[in-house]
Amino acid sequence: APSSLAGKPLASSAPDTIAAVATAPGVGAIGILRISGPAAGRIAEHLIGSVPQPRLATLRRFVDAQGEAIDQGVALWFPAPHSFTGENLLELQGHGGPIVLDLLLARALDLGARPARPGEFSERAFLNGKLDLAQAEAIADLIQAGTATQVRLATRSLQGVFSRRVNALVEQLTRLRALIEAALDFPDDELDALPIADTDFATLIAATETLRASSQQGELIRDGLLVVIAGAPNAGKSSLLNALAGTDAAIVTEIPGTTRDLLRAEIQIDGLPIRLVDTAGLRPSTDLVEQEGIRRARVQIQQADHLLLIIDDQAQRPDSSVQAHLAELELDPGVPVTILRNKIDRSGRPTGKAITPEGHTELACSAKTGAGLDDLRSHLKTIAGYRGADAGEFSARRRHVEALRQGLKHLKQAQQAWAEQSGHRCPGPELIAEDLRLAQYALGEITGEISSDDLLGRIFSEFCIGK
Ligand code: GDP
Repeated sequence: APSSLAGKPLASSAPDTIAAVATAPGVGAIGILRISGPAAGRIAEHLIGSVPQPRLATLRRFVDAQGEAIDQGVALWFPAPHSFTGENLLELQGHGGPIVLDLLLARALDLGARPARPGEFSERAFLNGKLDLAQAEAIADLIQAGTATQVRLATRSLQGVFSRRVNALVEQLTRLRALIEAALDFPDDELDALPIADTDFATLIAATETLRASSQQGELIRDGLLVVIAGAPNAGKSSLLNALAGTDAAIVTEIPGTTRDLLRAEIQIDGLPIRLVDTAGLRPSTDLVEQEGIRRARVQIQQADHLLLIIDDQAQRPDSSVQAHLAELELDPGVPVTILRNKIDRSGRPTGKAITPEGHTELACSAKTGAGLDDLRSHLKTIAGYRGADAGEFSARRRHVEALRQGLKHLKQAQQAWAEQSGHRCPGPELIAEDLRLAQYALGEITGEISSDDLLGRIFSEFCIGK
């Protein structure tokens, strides 16, 4: 069941002490071991002789059970609550060899720590109120960022840009809710007497809508679009993928071992990431490995945001119909389709946009000469609702956008109910109060004010170990 966890002390049973190597696996100049929890001080006494002065870099020997040095390096001690996790935290910066770090970790485990789960340091930071959930997610987004824009926006979210705006909304909402709930105590549902104006609802809804739009831009920059390329053999699917990617090297094959792999490329259009998938690999097969590859390709295609159907414009007989292709792909009927007439360098068709009788957008291009590809790029931005990298204010995830959408829905219902009671067709303040409660609940899920173990498990399991 959802419960409010943020800012509460950890469960009544004392938390255990966790340890993990925080630097990337492999060889590096420096390797970092982190130890967090109540036993961190005792572990420090055994491992480095004594607990160092808080927040002061100190050169220490890191010793084994016999007192022999495993390594030497810098020790940092962050006593609770002034640490990343909010707990006692020891950080040892030694030499970045995998065996050295393994030995150090093993020693910490011998001394009573247990291996940290992925994201467990950040989870503790969240549970101890050092970060809210949107900020913790921004840490993972920052680490996994693939573009400079993604880095900029994740950093802004980590600094609380998104959370502060959510909190400001929640504050306004709480005020309104408190007033309405006060009315529940009046026997005759006297809402007219309350210091609430119709504009209070409208202002709140407008602010929520603005934040939803911003978070959608942030989500687009983080997740991008999944675009599937389909079409008859030789229509020019691979050529288009290459032309858009700009270099053959950008293309990776998804499923090694299959005779004909699913081709993928990651491109960016003005900071909008687009994952292109070429369906060349989809074909009847009796080979078990290939069948598995095709099954995976289909799973991926089911998640497509958009389909590009390529037609060879120069072919004598225009190849099979759009509907036949869609049927073959078993694409969700909700996925929008764009028809691309390719090879116009041969057919002589001019570039430009048209709408087919079925209502699909049709563009003309040449994967060979590049004609019409700019039209395609700006079309993809339009479809996504992308307003450019500058429009992104913070990074966000699909669940945030969804929470804001839910919140908006309930706010609008509350506004409706309020308008009706003003016209004396009074549905009662209970309905308004209930919708405001649900709206607050939805917004609270973004920052983790309201969260469930399930949600937390999902979020933190995506982190790397040691973070
Ligand atoms: P796929 O089977 O759909 O992936 O098609 P390919 O990308 O392999 O292209 C099939 C053939 O059409 C190749 O010989 C390409 O060079 C050629 N081709 C692709 N696009 C164009 C184009 O825009 N103009 C011309 N003239 N040839 C093209």
